[in-house]
Amino acid sequence: MPHELRPGRKTISGDAVSAELSKFHRAVAAVVKTLSATEERLRHSGDEEQAEIFEYHVEMAEDPELASEVEERVRNLESPESAVLAVGEKYAAELAAKDNEYLAARADDVRDVAGQISAELTGQGSAALETLATPSVILARSLAPSDTARIPRGMALGFVTAEGSRTSHVSIMARSMGIPAVVGVGPALEEALKATTLAVDGTRGYAVTDPDGATVAEFERRSRALAEERAGLDEYRHLEARTRDGRRIEVAANLGSASDAEGALGWGAEGVGLFRTEFLFMERDELPSEEEQYEAYRAVAKVFGNKPVIVRTLDVGGDKDLPGVDQPPEENPFLGWRGIRMSLDTPDLFEPQLRAILRAASHGNLKVMFPMVVEVGELRAAKELLEGCRARLKREGAEVGPVEVGVMIETPAAAICAAELAEESAFFSIGTNDLVQYTLAADRGNERLRRLQSADHPAVLELIRQTCEAARAAGIPTGVCGEAAGDPEMIPKLVALGVTELSMGAPAIPRAKKIVSEL
Ligand code: PEP
Ligand code: MG
Repeated sequence: MPHELRPGRKTISGDAVSAELSKFHRAVAAVVKTLSATEERLRHSGDEEQAEIFEYHVEMAEDPELASEVEERVRNLESPESAVLAVGEKYAAELAAKDNEYLAARADDVRDVAGQISAELTGQGSAALETLATPSVILARSLAPSDTARIPRGMALGFVTAEGSRTSHVSIMARSMGIPAVVGVGPALEEALKATTLAVDGTRGYAVTDPDGATVAEFERRSRALAEERAGLDEYRHLEARTRDGRRIEVAANLGSASDAEGALGWGAEGVGLFRTEFLFMERDELPSEEEQYEAYRAVAKVFGNKPVIVRTLDVGGDKDLPGVDQPPEENPFLGWRGIRMSLDTPDLFEPQLRAILRAASHGNLKVMFPMVVEVGELRAAKELLEGCRARLKREGAEVGPVEVGVMIETPAAAICAAELAEESAFFSIGTNDLVQYTLAADRGNERLRRLQSADHPAVLELIRQTCEAARAAGIPTGVCGEAAGDPEMIPKLVALGVTELSMGAPAIPRAKKIVSEL
């Protein structure tokens, strides 16, 4: 979260004291306002336990002792953003040392609140991402998709995060935006925060703080080499990929926003294998209306014309929050109320999306796909809602198009039940990011589990094989839209297992077509 960015220790001049004290009090008031709003929302949704935590955070932010210690440090010419962190750390250490489990657990709460006040003071609260006006490398403990979505285009030169892995959403977003990212650096982030310049190598996965001239020259050389390598792949962009023994493999793009559609076509996308609709709406504070969704889906359908565009319905939950959706805090969000589970429980959210997709389908070749399915009952329920929406739209006299319905295979349950699901689906798309995390019981965002974050594991490969076999028997195609689809080492294996379509961050398309053509 952006409020976990840490400013360096700073001092102030003597004549700035009273202005800095006022700034500190304004920052506390702003944080209290945000925390109180969250507390109120939680109470409103009946979540007393979580609300109490926020009530405690409000009390801490307003604590007069904390304020007076910070004031004293500011009068001694320490900047308030440093002072509040130092005082917070002192309180946290005192709590952690207590022989009382409850109090010790409050240490992180104190750090969190002090961090929020400090971030407010340095303008590094979440609002800072939206107003970023200088192209910058962004450093954070973690970046949620809703954070990355707020960054104005062209303003992020690179990401460096303490947490995360190849398949966490910060990496996925970075890859499709063509932004270098180094994730999962752990405590090294603290060092990076002290630097004024960073050289980021997203290909090899490391960053250099305050690089010297020779390092800068080396990074520039490699950057040019990468551009040349990409130019060398240009001839593959608009090729129809076919293996040497004649198997045709469609290569499509994953999209996170309607505005990426033209660019994806330029990279040679033969369609959209995954349109992550939840990313579309993350830069806003409220949910979009049916009309706004319709406009977004129609725009993509029009850009792609006859080419297929697979629209995945909302996959909120896990590491993806959606502003405007009342998502109760969960112990295990990745095993929680996400994807189709949430959509089926909230028809007020789901039906406008289905209506928008059906209406937009009259302008192109749209297909719909449901995420996180674990049993055929969910598919049936979702299809029933879709048909209900179609019937109502027709009664209203609205124009609707045909849409094929497919299922994401991203849980072991779906892969194991693939034969049953195939009977009622028009296509499958394997989400290897989640399939790996659920098969290997390894959180996709946990940087310590890198070894277990690859689809190249016998259990995962076997589930992919079973899925392809069930699809082949039912006569339906199987795509892969997880990050494995664009991974040069995985492409030959996926094709060998029977996958018929690969969908990836658009800049990876020419290379994938080249690899397929040489198989
Ligand atoms: C996946 O799980 O592989 C997938 C493509 O979906 P997401 O990364 O959005 O969870
Ligand atoms: Mg997924």
